[in-house]
Amino acid sequence: MSDSYDVIVIGGGPAGYPAAIRAGQNGLTVACIDEWQNRDGSYAFGGTCLNAGCIPSKALLESSELLHRAREEFPTHGIRIGAATMDVTQMQKRKAGIVKASTQGILALFKSAKVTGLAGHGKLLPGRKVEYTAADGTVTVLEAKSVVLASGSTPMPLKSVPFDGTTVLDSWGALDLAAVPKRLGVIGAGVIGLELGSVWRRLGSEVVVLEALDAFLPMADGAVAKEALKHFKKQGLDIRLGAKVTGATVAAGGVSLSYADAAGAHTLEVDQVVVAIGRRPNSAGLLAEGTGVALDERGFIRVDDECRTGAKGVYAVGDCVRGPMLAHKGKEEGVMVADLIAGRYGEVNYRTIPSVIYTAPEIAWVGQTEEQVKASGRPYKTGVFPFLASGRARAMEATAGFTKVVAGADDDEILGVHVIGPMAGELIAEAVLAMEYSASTEDLQRTIHAHPTLSEALHEAALAADKRAIDFPNR
Ligand code: FAD
Ligand code: AMP
Repeated sequence: MSDSYDVIVIGGGPAGYPAAIRAGQNGLTVACIDEWQNRDGSYAFGGTCLNAGCIPSKALLESSELLHRAREEFPTHGIRIGAATMDVTQMQKRKAGIVKASTQGILALFKSAKVTGLAGHGKLLPGRKVEYTAADGTVTVLEAKSVVLASGSTPMPLKSVPFDGTTVLDSWGALDLAAVPKRLGVIGAGVIGLELGSVWRRLGSEVVVLEALDAFLPMADGAVAKEALKHFKKQGLDIRLGAKVTGATVAAGGVSLSYADAAGAHTLEVDQVVVAIGRRPNSAGLLAEGTGVALDERGFIRVDDECRTGAKGVYAVGDCVRGPMLAHKGKEEGVMVADLIAGRYGEVNYRTIPSVIYTAPEIAWVGQTEEQVKASGRPYKTGVFPFLASGRARAMEATAGFTKVVAGADDDEILGVHVIGPMAGELIAEAVLAMEYSASTEDLQRTIHAHPTLSEALHEAALAADKRAIDFPNR
């Protein structure tokens, strides 16, 4: 460890570690400090995403979906395997292996980009100095020409239902359950609540999701949200909207949740509950007095479009700043600032950040919803293609959902693309690229899509926007 670097990155999650790697690729000397500790006390890079977020949740979603398909779809294919069951210990072991391989991969990437990885706590001092408290408690003051703050976020607590790590769980706790709870409560029908609820529902839990808002997935296109709710209910997720949780009584063997909806006050008895009401930025212990870095009223670090804070040479990226709390958003910001610091071009196009919900059916979108375009007053057209009409989807037994394109009525510009159905998170990439290049529906219409692929659904939805779909009757 040197005591002076061109760049010091505080936080080694999906915003911080790409910033460090790109800074190294740009020929700068760089250190990345991260304090993440696993349950066994070991340190790991990768932040929430690799250790307790994106990666472990997708591992469990895959395992539980495979079990579901083995039970529900194999007989249709003619596959007879008897009663499929889940070995939860093996499922968790597989997940842990994936997490370990992913976090250790960062160490190899750091080595190749000549990044010094430092385990411990980082605190910004005035004048671009960083106080580094190592794992063994040794404190060193490091100097940098530029500092990137990438401290991420942690689960938002619900005052009336405090986390206890065994009965009242945060999302990390819900990913690490050693056994399938008979009755699982989920507070919050956001992305995390729905993904975690889906995992344990598919493994056999009776899952009740309590959501304070009357609207379901209000950030998604209305037609997509409606379709999603229909399928989730069919899967047995008991989603109660307009249900605000107000308290909890934990007793041996379970928890009694109090909630209120339009009909009055209720209680719900469950064995365990996951509080998934959102995440808040990590800024405690990050900033000494007088750094010039400002926080907003919710604790996010204030930045401009290029992620500059109010302090010269200090940037902030990822979940600790405004914008969607998504790994790929943080990654692009991290890479942008590392390029800006090196005097190169860097930009994040905030209009084309895709959102994905990894449920079944999967949900993904980019750009504006039909409701947003309508509210803007801009004349528009839509094209919809159901997966029921896709040969590939039929061959996959995955006909739920549709692809929808929203475009300007006069200039044909694609304004938003919404997919609910198989591999939606993969399919949306084409729409992101199209929108990055300001494509029209005609551009998509004239782009050849292999047959039979799921990607034809986007092609046909683009054609449907002009009532020229081939594989589905135009309305
Ligand atoms: P983080 O990943 O939170 O990393 C910040 C790191 O900084 C942490 O390791 C922290 O310990 C460290 N740190 C903080 N302060 C200090 C300090 N002072 N000194 C040293 N180190 C410090 N997003 C997606 O895009 N796709 C998904 O599928 C997805 N699934 C998710 C599933 C779950 C269950 C959860 C909880 C989140 C999910 N997310 C997903 C969100 C995603 O994890 C976050 O958006 C992403 O991790 C943010 O990256 P970050 O680098 O800003 O912060
Ligand atoms: P997200 O911010 O997308 O992770 O979603 C969190 C969800 O939790 C939001 O839809 C909130 O409306 C919901 N929520 C927040 N507080 C409560 C509460 N006390 N009871 C039920 N739902 C809540």
